[in-house]
Formats: sequence, C-alpha cells, structure tokens
Amino acid sequence: MLAAAAIVIRAVSVFDTESGVMRPDQTVVVEDGRITSAAARQLRKPKRAQVIDGRGRFLIPGLIDAHVHLVHLSEASLVTADQFLPMFLDAGVTSVRSTGDAVPAQKLIERFAADHPDRSPRLFLCSPLIDGEPVVHRDVGRALTDPARVPEFVAGMAQWGVRTLKIYVGIDRTVGRRIIEEGHRHGLMVTGHLGRYRAQDAVADGIDSLEHIWSVFNFILPPGLDHRANADLSSPQAVELIQAIKRRGVAVNPTLAVFRNMILLADQPEYYRHPDNATAPERMRESWIKYRQARMPTSLRPETLALRMREFNKYQQLTGILHREGVRLLAGTDAPEPFCPPGWSLHQELEMLVESGLSPAAALQAATINNARIVNMNHELGGIAPGRIADMVLLSADPLLDIRNTRRIVHVIKGGAVVR
Ligand SMILES: [Zn+2]
Repeated sequence: MLAAAAIVIRAVSVFDTESGVMRPDQTVVVEDGRITSAAARQLRKPKRAQVIDGRGRFLIPGLIDAHVHLVHLSEASLVTADQFLPMFLDAGVTSVRSTGDAVPAQKLIERFAADHPDRSPRLFLCSPLIDGEPVVHRDVGRALTDPARVPEFVAGMAQWGVRTLKIYVGIDRTVGRRIIEEGHRHGLMVTGHLGRYRAQDAVADGIDSLEHIWSVFNFILPPGLDHRANADLSSPQAVELIQAIKRRGVAVNPTLAVFRNMILLADQPEYYRHPDNATAPERMRESWIKYRQARMPTSLRPETLALRMREFNKYQQLTGILHREGVRLLAGTDAPEPFCPPGWSLHQELEMLVESGLSPAAALQAATINNARIVNMNHELGGIAPGRIADMVLLSADPLLDIRNTRRIVHVIKGGAVVR
C-alpha cells in the first residue's frame, strides 16, 4: 500500500475536466488515497496533513496513456515492463490502458505493479490481439475464426480480469460482431485496429473505440487512389463515416506519436534524436535505432520524405475534423514502439493533438476524462473532485496557455501519495 497520509494543496489552480476550465485559487484535500474536497475554501482539515503550497501552480488529473503494450514489445527491445513502468510515473502518467498483449504475462506485470505502486502506473489489461488466421503477431495474436467459439473465449477473458477486448486486422464481421456482443454482456470494452472488419460495420455493430487514425482513414479511401497523402477528407464517404462515429458515440484514439516517430518519419533527426528518447533504457534505444536502420532502404527512402510528411499531415487533419465534428478523442502512444518512450511520448501526443486543432483543454480532456471513460473508470479517475482516486500532477506552468507545460512537473501524486 502507498502511504495514506493526508495531503492539502493550497491556493492552486485546478483543471476541471468536465468544463475544460482552469479554476484558480482552490484547495484540494486528499485523505486515504482519495480526494475529499476541492473547492475555493478548505472544507476539511485533516490532522497531520502534508501541506503543499500551490500558489502559481496548476493541478491536473494524472495522465492516462490509452494505447500501451506491456509485453509484446519486450522481446524486440530486450527490456521488461518492470524496467519501464517507472518512466510512466516520472512523466505524470498514472494509468495505462493496455491494447493487446499476452494475458498471463500481463498478470505477472500487474502483480509487480501491485507490489510496487510507487514505481508503477495503474494498469488496465487487454486481451491478446484477436485476429484471423494466420495471426499477424505470433507472440500476442490469438486466432478466432468461428463465431461459435467467441462466448467461451470472452468469458475466459472476463475471468482473467481484462478491461478491453481488442479486435485485430484479420477478424471478419461475423466474428467481430459476436465479440462486441459478448464483450458487452460481460461489461468489457471492445476496441479495434480494423482491417477486414470495416469501420462502417464495426461502428454500426456497437464497437466502443477505434485504435489508430488508420481505423478511420483506411475506410474512407476511394478505390484506385494513387497515394494516401491525396485522400479527400471531405468526400461523402468520409463525411458519412465521421457522422456515424459521432452518432454512435465511438471514441477514436489517433496515436499520432507512433505514426510520426516510428512509421512515417523515423528517419528525421528531430524525432529519432528527440530529447525524450534519452529517458528510455539504453537497450530499448538501441533496438529502436536498429529498427530504423532496417527500414531505411525500403519505407524510409529520402525521395519519399515529402510524400510521407503530407501523409502524416492528412492524419492530423483528420484528427482535427473528428474533434470539430464532436467525436470523442482518446490520447494514446503505442509505447514502447520505436521512438515512443514510455510516459514522455504522451506529452508528444498532446502536442500533436493541439497541432491538429484541439485546444490544450480538449487535448487534456482526451488524456484524462476521455481515457478514463474508455476503461470504465470515469467515476474514479480523470478528474479532480471529491470521491475520486487522488491521481494528480502538479505543474509549475499553465498547460492551457501552452500544452508543453504538461512537462513542467513539480509533483506526481498517485493514490494519495507523492511518488515524484
Ligand atoms: Zn498498438
């Protein structure tokens, strides 16, 4: 257990995730790991509290990374999760949502996290990547081709205690629809990195969220389009899908960091030498460099750079359109994929969301209350209000003035204890 001492943070500006407004001069009281009051006056006076002077400081809920892999990338990077979990907390990321991994290994990591709450974010586990045959990722993919076998599989996942079922590229509609139905019957969230199962169908069938901007973008491309960079984001097909996503309340997790840093622009020193990368263990960094070098002759050729930049720009444009149309966005990174350092890459994602047209408040809402909702924790996490778990980050500058100020971390509080 974390220390349960009370904390009082005085005269601090508090970010309200419901309204998106910064409330000045608040006093926040934490007792037994929970926020017991947050108001203009100090309503409760706990005995023997640690008092933190909040003048000139800004309190936001603990950040949540909604797209992380705890197991699946360990082999490539020669680093296990216990080594990189503390990086999340250092960066103010107090919860992570797994989006596809081997379940028994995740359970071991969950046990490590329970034993070391001061070194680990909260973990919300996920099924393996539920795929067709053959599976794309042999280490963490699981083939499911017969709809009749879905109920048993989903019941097993519920018993393991996963929060999310992840539909992967090889799943077709008959199996996908069954996964959504069964998942919802067990109170699980169902997300998709879609391929065979069209976004139009998955949205109509009631999927909860879509992973990667591709799970929208790939389904609005007209046949015969010469390059993705030339996609028309205002085509009737695009408008129709975006409206359906909005109408059905499906959340979209663009994961711009992984598209920029690993897939499209990993040859650009700005990104592969980003100062954030220095926070990652050396072996992880070495594996990233190897990965980049292997792709240089094929997908990272200099003559394709302009096109790749335009393609990334399209993804940001689509992200902005989704936001303007009222689609709920999540914030996720795909860490620890190459050049997506655990924790700090979420700050990059926030910056890219703002570049895409979100206000800093909207980007923060994505990484807090929206992400909390997608793991069914929006009454516990994602906000600073009485009754919520006390996961918070104290900043020395206003993130609504400049989203990069989320990096100016004074303290990270998790479960009512100062962990940084
Ligand atoms: Zn992923």
